[in-house]
Amino acid sequence: MSVESMNAAVVQKPDQLSVQKMPLPGLADNQVLIRVEYCGICDTDLAIVHGIYSRDHLPLIPGHEFSGSIAEVGGSVSGLSVGDRVTADINLGCEKCSYCRDNARLNCPECSQIGIHSHGAMARYVSAPADKVLPLPQGLDPALGALVEPLSVSVRAAKLGRIGLGQSVVFLACNFMSLLHLQVFKLCGAAPLIVVDPSERRREQAAALGADFTLPQDGATARAVMDLTNGQGADVVVECAGSIPGYELAFDLVRPRGRLLAFGLPAENELARFRPFQVGLRELSIIGSCAGQGEDVEQAITLLQYERLNLTEFTRVRYPLEKINEALAAYEEPDGPLKVLISMS
Ligand SMILES: [Zn+2]
Ligand SMILES: [Zn+2]
Repeated sequence: MSVESMNAAVVQKPDQLSVQKMPLPGLADNQVLIRVEYCGICDTDLAIVHGIYSRDHLPLIPGHEFSGSIAEVGGSVSGLSVGDRVTADINLGCEKCSYCRDNARLNCPECSQIGIHSHGAMARYVSAPADKVLPLPQGLDPALGALVEPLSVSVRAAKLGRIGLGQSVVFLACNFMSLLHLQVFKLCGAAPLIVVDPSERRREQAAALGADFTLPQDGATARAVMDLTNGQGADVVVECAGSIPGYELAFDLVRPRGRLLAFGLPAENELARFRPFQVGLRELSIIGSCAGQGEDVEQAITLLQYERLNLTEFTRVRYPLEKINEALAAYEEPDGPLKVLISMS
């Protein structure tokens, strides 16, 4: 390619994000260069911008939820061609250790995630290893393609949470990820789906996207959940906000032998209180779930291909790369859009 530099959003220091010229990403023999079309902003990006994650990797181009088309392929790449519309599994590992072999690269000692540990897609171009690059189905809106990565996270959460037919699920917090979980868990047959959030507006959004019940988060939440689950408590409670009061409340909402799906990430050193007696006596399970990887990503693409989900509304709010700081400010507004995409075209 004749282009040598590109515009990219770069976090230089915590709370210092600007669009600047950067060299084009290098292209190793086993990599492809992707011309980015859309890149989603998520809470992880906010954490990077504010210096909570990735401090050791600055300056960094963030962006790990993206779609685009292949601009160039490395010398040893086969099966992918210039012009193919693609996304990528952002989780790179050594591919040799037991975690990599078990599709759990996040725990590989060499784990590196595109846009979190290495330069990402809030730029005109991003490079990725060819074996992590996945073609998008023909005709799929590339804006939806940028949602593959977060959707793969929900696919993994459904699997690790062993979500099944007729299982009651409580989601603590209504945000983009809990609404993805809600739709994926509904596909798995979970019912009823109960969303707890202090904001009435958010509760309305949850109801519109398929929640069977919505509840405010207050002193009456546990009683209300009992009433909706035959006096037992929910089969599964998913904490989606990374809130310590949310984690502590979860133990009051889950039924004996139920599962607490720990999804929302509080700050690294925060502590929550729970009673081990209660966990042991009631045979509760606490299950963690984080990034979608490998086949989770492929399955997310299939769900989009066959239109199993209603995600279009999450592609509506778009900003050009040059307005990245306005886009972040809009996303951070308490009543702001649940998803914001950066459009590169
Ligand atoms: Zn994300
Ligand atoms: Zn590994």
